[in-house]
Amino acid sequence: MNLIEKLMVKPGHKAKLADWDPDCTDKYENKEQAIPIMDKLAGRIAKLQYLLFAENKRAILVVLQAMDAGGKDGTIRTVMGPMNPQGCKVTSFKKPTDEELAHDFLWRVHRFVPRRGEVRIFNRSHYEDVLIVRVHNLVPKSIWSRRFEQINNFEKLLAESDIHVIKFFLHISKSEQKKRFKERLDDPTKNWKAEPGDFEERKYWEEYTRAYEDVLTRCSTDYAPWYVIPANHKWFRNLSISQILVHEFEKLKMKFPEPIYDVSKLKIK
Ligand code: ATP
Ligand code: MG
Repeated sequence: MNLIEKLMVKPGHKAKLADWDPDCTDKYENKEQAIPIMDKLAGRIAKLQYLLFAENKRAILVVLQAMDAGGKDGTIRTVMGPMNPQGCKVTSFKKPTDEELAHDFLWRVHRFVPRRGEVRIFNRSHYEDVLIVRVHNLVPKSIWSRRFEQINNFEKLLAESDIHVIKFFLHISKSEQKKRFKERLDDPTKNWKAEPGDFEERKYWEEYTRAYEDVLTRCSTDYAPWYVIPANHKWFRNLSISQILVHEFEKLKMKFPEPIYDVSKLKIK
């Protein structure tokens, strides 16, 4: 089994997070070994995004979910780094506003789905509506429990509209989260990230783990797969996400559009 297969959540199978080691680095030993591979992958990602933009037929939606300090921001820097900002945008989903809450839960999400030719990254997503909402009982179970199917139907609509959805769960251990929170207290350049609310949320680690396992079990589909990314080592997290992105981009078998004009007959005056 190759790395991509190991990290993908098989549709229809029960997912247990304990089956993925957050410390895993697969066959790679250290960051130095990963650097030249990352350079090559960055070049591939840049070319594939150029092709997606030129082809102007399909779009890519990358969904990022993680526990606090899971590395969403660092991942966005790496994933977007090689891309042309003209064709790649990020949307971060925070606590919903009153207006957003007055609508169905997918209303605020659907408007940020990418247009043809574009890559869009969701920093948090519609999955919060079956994660924090469930853990904190923000709506009754009778409502959130229906959302798994609603999400699958929504993502199917996107897939059938040529929007290719790829979902990453950045998997860190509870002790790695503690280490990263501690850095936010100790490192003056990270103090601004320290959030007492995040420290409190650690109490719900087990509840979030169960909620994530249900998400992975019920919403990894052939048309919008979930990947569990071992994320204790930032370099391995970046390497594996880059590899998966290249793999998913290549699945699209994109082609440059036919030129509108017969270029052999065009003369530059
Ligand atoms: P960072 O802390 O790195 O800036 P973040 O994504 O944690 O990024 P915050 O503003 O700290 O951003 O947190 C956003 C909060 O909004 C999270 O606690 C998240 O769970 C919450 N949230 C997002 N979507 C929903 C939702 N649909 N319902 C309730 N809470 C939500
Ligand atoms: Mg936060």
